[in-house]
This record gives sequence, C-alpha cells and structure tokens, in this order.
Amino acid sequence: MYKQTLSELAKGLRSGAFSSQELTKIYLDRIKQHQSLNCFITITEEQALAQAKQADIRLAKGDATALTGIPLAQKDIFCTLGVKTTCGSKMLDNFIAPYNATVIDKFNAAGAVMLGKLNMDEFAMGSSNETSFYGAVQNPWDTTCVPGGSSGGSAAAMAAYLAAGATGTDTGGSIRQPAALCGITGLKPTYGRVSRYGMIAYASSLDQGGPMTRNAEDAAIMLQTMAGFDPKDSTSSEQTVPDYSAGLHNGLQGLKIGLPKEFFTADLNPDIAATIEAAVNEYKKLGAEVIEITLPHLKYAIPAYYIIAPAECSANLSRYDGVRYGYRCQNPVDLADLYTRSRGEAFGAEVKRRILIGTYALSAGYYDAYYLKAQKIRRLITEDFTQALTKVDVIMGPVTPSTAFAIGEKSGDPIQMYLSDIYTIAINLAGLPAMSIPAGFVQNKPVGLQIIGNYFSEAHLLNIAHRYQQVTDWHQRTPIGFE
Ligand code: GLN
Repeated sequence: MYKQTLSELAKGLRSGAFSSQELTKIYLDRIKQHQSLNCFITITEEQALAQAKQADIRLAKGDATALTGIPLAQKDIFCTLGVKTTCGSKMLDNFIAPYNATVIDKFNAAGAVMLGKLNMDEFAMGSSNETSFYGAVQNPWDTTCVPGGSSGGSAAAMAAYLAAGATGTDTGGSIRQPAALCGITGLKPTYGRVSRYGMIAYASSLDQGGPMTRNAEDAAIMLQTMAGFDPKDSTSSEQTVPDYSAGLHNGLQGLKIGLPKEFFTADLNPDIAATIEAAVNEYKKLGAEVIEITLPHLKYAIPAYYIIAPAECSANLSRYDGVRYGYRCQNPVDLADLYTRSRGEAFGAEVKRRILIGTYALSAGYYDAYYLKAQKIRRLITEDFTQALTKVDVIMGPVTPSTAFAIGEKSGDPIQMYLSDIYTIAINLAGLPAMSIPAGFVQNKPVGLQIIGNYFSEAHLLNIAHRYQQVTDWHQRTPIGFE
C-alpha cells in the first residue's frame, strides 16, 4: 500500500478500501524499519494516530478533502505547535514551537496526518544534508551517498516510501536538487505563492516552500492546499490560486522549450547531458519545439547568491541570542558572554561561515562593493529570464551537474558544495517557479530534469511534468532494498 501515489491513496481512503489509521501504521512501521536512513528528526507517532482517527471519522461522514487521512512528513523548518522544531540545529534542539506555520495549519484543516519532522541541513544551509546537527541522511539509491540538501530528509523519505508526500523549502535549490538526487518529483513555487509564516527564515527574499512527491499529479494536490495569500506573510501573493489538477492532461502541441546554452557546458557530466537530451526528445515527440536561448548573466548567479543569502541569514539568525528561546550556554558571566557562547556553542561551522560572510558584506565599508553589486546582478539575471520567457514557454535543463556524491566527499570543500546548485540558484534570484522530475539514471543513480516557467505558471509546469510521466516510468522506479 505504501508504494501507491498520494492520489491513489486518497481514492482508497474514500472508497473505504482501507482506513487512515491502517495506512498511518504502515508508514510508521516503515519509518522505524528504515531508521538507519536518518530521515526523521522527530517521529510524531501518537499525534499521527490521533489525526488518523479524526480523519477516519471525517472520511466516514463524506466531507473529506484530497488530503484527508493522508500521511505526510514535514521538513523540520516548519513550526509545528507543541512539537519540537529544530531546523536541523543544536540551537533549536530544545525548541517546542508555540504555533503552527500557515502551511501546517492548512494541512491540518485539510485533515492530513503528520508522521513526523524531517532531517535537513542546519537552517537549510547546505546541499548534502551533512550540516545537520542530527547527522547525515543516506540516499536510498546508494546509502553511501548523500540525498542532496537542504531538504535531504524529505527527498530520501519519499524515495524510500516513508510517507505519501513531504514538504521541502528551496532558497537556492533545496527542493529540486535533493529531488533530483533521490529520483522524486519536487516543485519550487513562484516566490510568494506559498506562505513563509512559521517557516524558519534563512534568506527571506529567496525562501519558498513546496511539495516533494512521487509524481506531478501528487504535487498538484499538495500545492493546492499549500498555496494562497496569507495576511501573516507580507510577501505573500494575492493572485488567485488556480485548480492545479484541472489541466494536467492538456496536450503539449506547440510548446516552446528553451534550452539555455549556458547550461550545457563542460561542467555538466556528459551522461547527464545525454539524459537531459533524451528527455527533451520525449517532449519533441509530444509536439514540443526546441529553441536555443541564452542567459548571459548566469555565471554570476552563485557569487551573487553567496552574498545575498548570507547577508539575509546574518540578519535572520541574529534572533538566536540565548535570551528568548533556543540554546543557552551554561553559567554566562555577563551579557556579551551569554550571546557569544550561546551562539558559538550552538551554531555549526557552515552557519557561522555564512553569518561572518553576511555581516562582512553588509558592513559600512563594503556594502556598496558587495551587497549592492550583488543586488544589481540579481536584477540582470531576472531580466535574462524574463527576456528568454518572451520567446519560449518554459526553460529546460539539468538540475545538478552530477549525480548523488559520496557522504564526506564535498563536506570539506565549501566551493565544490556551492557548485551543486549551479543550475538551480538563478531561479531563486529571479523568484521563478521550477520543477525537478525524474528523467533517467546514470550508473544506477537518479537524474533530474529541470523545468522552469514564468511567474505563477505552476499549473502549466505540472501539466508539462505530468505528460512526461505518462510516457515514461522513471518516477516509478524503486531503490533496491526499499521495495
Ligand atoms: N545549497 C544552497 C545553500 O546552501 C541552497 C540551500 C537551500 O535552497 N535552502 O544555500
């Protein structure tokens, strides 16, 4: 049962083929059976069973939504009332959230079940899940490899069938990159589409939550619940939310696909390049037309991101001071000692590196040279995309330059790690929506195809992804040992 898609499970629940309590128990058992993957920071067994019981009552009454009784797992970046919310950090190891993120409230209102909180890179900073205070996560396709990050727990949990759906967040690639490395479907919505309220802030102008699922059809169902205006998030969009499932089957005749020449360089593993080419050929068979495009400022995306994101994180993380909540050092001698030791003892090395870079880039003497310059580059990159999207409907390319790498392989080399997001980061700078869908394998490890659309074109992206998933079965493959 656990291998069914979310939409199949929803049908089974409604028809009474099985109950949410049965389904929830199956997933909870599977989570325990595969605990060595280290996907979960917290398992909320009691709460899950109580929610499943409520869902069964609601299902029996016939007022169920598509998510009623569906067991989901939440990235531990979303605040969950009464449940430990760590953001992968020692700083929040003792933090029980006093309120729910809007996304969590929405899932609760829909009657979804929460199985637990998923492992992630500390404060979502990383591309391998290795910066987590709770340890690395294993990739089910090769347990010596990383699942990607920062939503590594989410992607690995989906690949190992430990939940029917999961949430992720994407600041520079953290939904799409782990989705690609674990062979699942991930959607990073347009900036402002999904509320950030109660989603612990990393870089506020880039952060965006989204679904991580088995296929596009399931992503449409989850996004339907997650999306929408939230008065509690000042950057939330008031655009009406369309029906994401309605157009899934639309034809793709005449679809114009742009392939940026900057994506297909020597930095891209040639086998991945061939996989992407094969995927694009599938689209041609479905009636699409391919056009070469250029994104001339793409090469500046990583440097610009690694000024802007640290600058924002240095401000966002200043709230963790040992005074109000989170970790507090033992026996501080004075206030300065309390601040410095609480932060020094509870933040990991990568978080500290980013706070230092961000503080430096924002300091009076360097602001113009670094931060202001990076913001100008951000504008140029955004214009590259808006320009390209006047000529084509969507842009396609790889998600990652390589497949899943070994645990430990890049953790000592931040630059190599940062390059993992070379194809995803620019999209966050522009605020555009993008998906990663399974498109093949290289040496038995999954490869993702990236599909980038114009602002608020999520329904179209889901349609494009769904059509491909109707004619391919990459998304249905199962890692050995997780059948
Ligand atoms: N790997 C990127 C970083 O470390 C992106 C992370 C993310 O999207 N949260 O910042």
